[in-house]
Amino acid sequence: MLQYDVAIIGGGLAGLTAANFLAQEGKKVVILEKSKRLGGRAMTNDKNGVLMNLGPHGLYVSGDAANIITELGISLPGGNATKAVKIHGILNHAVHVIPTDVPSIMSSTLLSWQAKFMFGKLMVKIMKLNIDSIPEVSLKQWVDSEVSDPMVRHIFNSICRLSSYTCAPTLQLARPVLKQVKRSLHAGVLYIDGGWETIVQKLMKQAEARGAEIATNKNVTIIEHHEQYQIIRCSDGTVIQVPICIIAVPPKEAMNMLNGAQHTSLRLWNEQSIPITACCLDIGINKLPTPKHQFAIGLDQALFFTNQSRAAKLSEDGTLVVSLTKYHNPMEEINVNEDKQQLESVMDLLHPGWRKEVVVQQFLPKLTVTYDFPHVKRRENPGPSIPEMKGIFIAGDWAGHEEVLADAAVASGKRAALEILRANELTLAKEG
Ligand SMILES: Cc1cc2nc3c(=O)[nH]c(=O)nc-3n(C[C@H](O)[C@H](O)[C@H](O)COP(=O)(O)OP(=O)(O)OC[C@H]3O[C@@H](n4cnc5c(N)ncnc54)[C@H](O)[C@@H]3O)c2cc1C
Repeated sequence: MLQYDVAIIGGGLAGLTAANFLAQEGKKVVILEKSKRLGGRAMTNDKNGVLMNLGPHGLYVSGDAANIITELGISLPGGNATKAVKIHGILNHAVHVIPTDVPSIMSSTLLSWQAKFMFGKLMVKIMKLNIDSIPEVSLKQWVDSEVSDPMVRHIFNSICRLSSYTCAPTLQLARPVLKQVKRSLHAGVLYIDGGWETIVQKLMKQAEARGAEIATNKNVTIIEHHEQYQIIRCSDGTVIQVPICIIAVPPKEAMNMLNGAQHTSLRLWNEQSIPITACCLDIGINKLPTPKHQFAIGLDQALFFTNQSRAAKLSEDGTLVVSLTKYHNPMEEINVNEDKQQLESVMDLLHPGWRKEVVVQQFLPKLTVTYDFPHVKRRENPGPSIPEMKGIFIAGDWAGHEEVLADAAVASGKRAALEILRANELTLAKEG
């Protein structure tokens, strides 16, 4: 039996963050990752030198993930994707400019004069919004009460969808989404050179430099909880005994591996979680046939197009990496074939003749973007500890406390690590 202070199950952003905070304080840590690579959904595929994230990935510049990664002393190379870019909107199979500044508000054909005024006022309101003052209502309720013009509503809903990667306005709580929109308006979004693999590699190298061990191809199947220790069993026969364990895998998998989990809060967190999926088409392309179309959002459909290479270096030979996404509404049926056709027809509209410029493609029909988000059916914030099982903690994008997406993954990893360190200090103080 191998022995460590803490075992972390899952080597995605949540697990890697937790490992860094614990190893920095001298804890003997091991990460057990079932795949042959770390990174989980933050990994980047290298397709003959063209670097593709799993769908479009942007890091909120002033978000929790970026702040915590900076706090760990890690800097990320890349460019701000929101600077100097015209946002286009797709409506009734036509492309329009979305009004984002005074000249585009004035020239926009999407809005009446009255609506232009209303849109401008809404944007100012969001920039100045006191997030804590937003009541516990759904995004739809907030938008319905604040925005009366239907076209302004369409545009604002698309911006909310883009910022939260989630298309469920009747379920989403307004406050976390508006916080995210405000952040993106203020500071923007970073596209990272080398893709999100750069974040994964930097977190991994730093954790290793601080003494953390990383074991890949370790599929954890069972965790046996005992009052003073936990026994972790992997499918290859590896057995590890640790006093503390962080489970940084999706909630259903956490339920399956933890013996006795049905009698704990984990069962409720799993039952109340609503996973959000999306269909993505990533394309490596020689050039964009219509260079002015760098960034577009669907106004009457839940779609998104972006050229990630406008802000990040994702190939050596100049091949551009563009990504298209169809957001799935968790309350609606998914049709993968229709989704693919829809994404290709967006390319036809924005970039006629694109097919002959394609170098490489990656089609991901149904990816889980997040395993949960702050929604009206959620009764409590998950974690960081499982109160009924001393020594067991959770982390992951489903364990956010008002954070969403990678911000939730990274913040929950830090939360679990800090809770462990705090409990350890208390024990030492009692003993001393
Ligand atoms: C298409 C797409 C686009 C996205 N865009 C953005 C974006 O623009 N901005 C943003 O902030 N976020 C974005 N996200 C979300 C972000 O990628 C995730 O929130 C984040 O990567 C989740 O990290 P995690 O550590 O919680 O989970 P994961 O990355 O899923 O990590 C869990 C790890 O646990 C491992 N594991 C599972 N079971 C076991 C087991 N039994 N034993 C051992 N290991 C196990 C898995 O292999 C995996 O490596 C996007 C996600 C997708 C899919």
